[in-house]
Amino acid sequence: MSQRCDLSVLEELTSNAKQIQDDVLTKILKSSANTEYLSRFLEGSSEKELFKKNVPVVSYEDVKPYIDRIANGEPSDILSGEPITAFILSSGTSSGNQKMFPRNNNFENIKFAAALSSLVISKHVHGYKQGKVMIFSFTQPLSTTPCGLPLAPATTILLKSKNYRSPAKNSTSPDEIILCTDAKQSMYCQLLCGLVQRDEIVSVGAPFASLLVQVIHFLGNYWKELCSNIRSGHVSEWITDLSCRDSVSMIVGEPNLELADLIENECGQESWQGIISRLWPKTKCIEAIVTGTMAQYIPALEFYSNKLPLVSRTYASSEAFFGINVNPLSKPQHVSYTFLPNMSYFEFIDVDGDGEIVDLVNVKLGGYYEPLVTNYSGLHRCRVGDVLQVTGFYNNTPQFRFARRKNTVLSVYVEPTTEEDLLNALTSATLALESSDLILTGFTCYADVSTVPGHYVFYLELKAKVNNSTGELPLDNKLLVECCCVMEESLTSIYRHFRAKDGFIGALEIRVRIVQQGTFDSLMEFFVSRGASITQYKTPICINSVEASRVLEDKVLARFFSDKSPTI
Ligand code: AMP
Repeated sequence: MSQRCDLSVLEELTSNAKQIQDDVLTKILKSSANTEYLSRFLEGSSEKELFKKNVPVVSYEDVKPYIDRIANGEPSDILSGEPITAFILSSGTSSGNQKMFPRNNNFENIKFAAALSSLVISKHVHGYKQGKVMIFSFTQPLSTTPCGLPLAPATTILLKSKNYRSPAKNSTSPDEIILCTDAKQSMYCQLLCGLVQRDEIVSVGAPFASLLVQVIHFLGNYWKELCSNIRSGHVSEWITDLSCRDSVSMIVGEPNLELADLIENECGQESWQGIISRLWPKTKCIEAIVTGTMAQYIPALEFYSNKLPLVSRTYASSEAFFGINVNPLSKPQHVSYTFLPNMSYFEFIDVDGDGEIVDLVNVKLGGYYEPLVTNYSGLHRCRVGDVLQVTGFYNNTPQFRFARRKNTVLSVYVEPTTEEDLLNALTSATLALESSDLILTGFTCYADVSTVPGHYVFYLELKAKVNNSTGELPLDNKLLVECCCVMEESLTSIYRHFRAKDGFIGALEIRVRIVQQGTFDSLMEFFVSRGASITQYKTPICINSVEASRVLEDKVLARFFSDKSPTI
């Protein structure tokens, strides 16, 4: 049964969070208390207090043997009261390895959350409901587990599910194009549809900012061909996926010389500053997640959109859908997500204190917590691996800022440099580059311990704001050395101590490397070739695989070192 969805529901949910969370847990326990997994701890009881007392907090690896058994053909009720109908693959790019999570076929909650988030955006972005949205989205081919159940990234399972698919009335791309599993054909056709409907588009986006930046790079390579298709009214022959071809051809329609000239004129200009607003002049916002590791794409998206509002809509993972941004126009650094208490049962481990576990409504303002998920498809008190900070409350429901992935730590000695610290360094680099002729389009780093002492290596992909005729980047040595220094200054006091005073890491340096255009696209292709989802891809803030670092090493153009010790 579908749930009512209007903005008053948001008020109800957030005002009654405690009761709703209790009801969610009761429902899950009623259906799952007798599973082999839970009955070991509960002996069939669905008492909530017993659940909290006896059921252990686990990580994915602890549940994995059960998940594997179901994937191999054992009945799903060893783990979940609700039948498991598919397995979803996490992106594995933020957490290291891809994980496989069981899933039932009830997508009502996710549909509801997506609809609620759209209502919130319509309320804040004038004219949003009246226009079309061009949100790039992709599906991967489905594979199957040994027992024959579908296995794919969550976005693919969702988009392909009959229970989820509802004709997105205001999307510029028809389903056929989004469901085409050849990413290149799909991206080309999604762009073609968007260009032809340019006057109707009020929002441009992708689930994550990395993908949207990749789409702009793709447009950079294909705009001439796209224009020629619009001019001739004929779609390129290499679009061979028939349903994709048919539906895009319908949208392209008759030859349109005027439109082709207009697009060619915009794309042919030396600078791509504001290209999104120039090609899609009614765009009011960019919808793409720019929190967490995605913050590295803020400068590029601001450049391409002439600083249109960047809207981070939702916070979700393969484990659960967590929350939505109820202030979609807030600046990226102020974005918080309001948890939706009807999605799953949430508990929180205090990561800075004594590891106490509290309920959703009992988290403390300012506190740092890792969420635990108990969901309808077999996860019970499962650690998510993200660290969130409480920034406020909406009615009785907490709002969280995404702080970092828990286990992403860079270290060449014993200094723990977290993802959040690295994001601070990123912000400093962005500021240092702001007044230059360069924009940052990609960022990642790794700990190089092949030198003695070891040092941090930051890979930056930079793009010239204005293309010059030689295609060379205007690299200013002084600016980039300064960039190294400000990054070091923004790292933790422990780092700076070891680097500058104790000599344990001695002459530890930050080395900034400039990589050629498209390097980060090839990094994404590398992860995608290993099974990551394009739609869910998150550029890893730290590289720890030799293979992945080789993808970047191959393309290094220049190196810079900090030339002074950081202050302590
Ligand atoms: P996956 O399960 O592959 O979809 O990856 C989920 C992970 O992506 C989460 O655990 C977060 O680390 C990250 N993530 C998802 N949404 C956001 C967001 N809005 N801001 C920052 N990171 C996010």
